[in-house]
Amino acid sequence: MSIMLIDNAGATPAAMACENSDTGADTAFRLAIRSWIEENLPSDWRGRSFGATDESLSEQRRKFGALLGRAGWLTANWPTSVGGLGASAARRIAVLEELVAAGAPEPMNSNSLGIFAPTLIKYGTPDQHRKFLPDMVTHNAIWCQGFSEPEAGSDLAAISTRGEIVGDQLVITGQKIWTSYAHLADFCYILVRTERSEKRHSGLTLAILPMHQDAVDVRPLRNIAGTDEFCEVFLDGATTPMTNIVGEPGNGWSMAMYALSQERSVGLAQRSLKLRAEFTALAEIAGRELTEGNLRDNDPILTGGMVDAYVRSLVTTSMVRRAIDLDAAGKDIGTVAAMAKVFWSESHQEQMGLAAHILGSDFVSGNGVGSDWYRASVFTRAETIYGGTTQIQRNVLARSLGLPKGK
Ligand SMILES: Cc1cc2nc3c(=O)[nH]c(=O)nc-3n(C[C@H](O)[C@H](O)[C@H](O)COP(=O)(O)OP(=O)(O)OC[C@H]3O[C@@H](n4cnc5c(N)ncnc54)[C@H](O)[C@@H]3O)c2cc1C
Repeated sequence: MSIMLIDNAGATPAAMACENSDTGADTAFRLAIRSWIEENLPSDWRGRSFGATDESLSEQRRKFGALLGRAGWLTANWPTSVGGLGASAARRIAVLEELVAAGAPEPMNSNSLGIFAPTLIKYGTPDQHRKFLPDMVTHNAIWCQGFSEPEAGSDLAAISTRGEIVGDQLVITGQKIWTSYAHLADFCYILVRTERSEKRHSGLTLAILPMHQDAVDVRPLRNIAGTDEFCEVFLDGATTPMTNIVGEPGNGWSMAMYALSQERSVGLAQRSLKLRAEFTALAEIAGRELTEGNLRDNDPILTGGMVDAYVRSLVTTSMVRRAIDLDAAGKDIGTVAAMAKVFWSESHQEQMGLAAHILGSDFVSGNGVGSDWYRASVFTRAETIYGGTTQIQRNVLARSLGLPKGK
């Protein structure tokens, strides 16, 4: 029996009706999301900042995320057993592509929806699904990810934040860092050490922690783009009921790995697909600058850079589609996810170098589009770090190719 978790009252009739997987129905589905966006996305919320780090975007991201969630678009691909429509990978991609094409803000909960929701659906209990998924979808509750610690980033197994089981509570003490949106979050999916073990990957537990309690102290950290996006989180005996543990205590590692592979591909899909939209915007600016005589058409940095950026945006799109396809088929996406993460993040940094060349002093001056490009550009420095650094992804790829481990 399927349990309807999400109130689909606001879902568009077209989204609900397009249940067949033939191409005609896929086209109808795409047109339905397109016209829904036309009706529901205010023009001044479109294409604001490619970097999506501006603090003033948070409210728009939350409000638009809520609209999308209530209309059923964020959960179209979820199984019907948890309130989704069980839509195909093609439709999931269609939703993302239409959002990017319209310059829509990324939903505030896109990380938790892309990373934690699939993990909870796979490993959590029906009670946990009922309790947490609906508010995540409708953005009534904002979520953050509490994995990294000062001494445990790339080496996540070094996590030392303690989780002690006391009666029917898990009591958590330690520190998390780089926790995105912790200052806005109502819940955190957190990885803690509940047992000391010879094996470093054993004894970790994944739990859901309510953030609004005295024992949780959140201190925002200002990033290079000048915004408070990530935070330090100090935990001094913070509590969560044992019923909020996902899976078995001590078995958190495999769930964290599943979550991170989702983060590198499906979780970053909307952001990765933006590369193409950003390229199109850049091409328009380059055309204008050429017409006004500010750029030369025999400039090799411009011409070579444009061709390279165009090809990279196409390849990134293909990689993201492949990851989503494999994921939908229930296949392991670890290697494709690592490849997509490295290729997208490095391509984005290169594209921003090209943007600086095209925009000249406008890139930093804040003259119209310039300031947004600059902010987005500095934020691309973070893209080769979060979700697993480029070096770590290259290690993953080297292993998948059977290359020997470095010393
Ligand atoms: C914008 C942003 C948002 C983030 N949001 C979150 C969040 O919401 N939740 C969360 O839990 N974390 C978050 N993080 C943290 C992120 O996951 C870590 O920064 C990342 O995993 C790297 O860990 P670290 O910073 O400790 O660097 P380290 O692990 O100390 O790495 C330092 C350098 O050494 C390299 N290195 C380390 N080990 C190896 C190795 N074995 N082989 C080769 N090179 C190696 C790394 O590639 C890197 O260049 C965020 C980070 C950023 C930048």
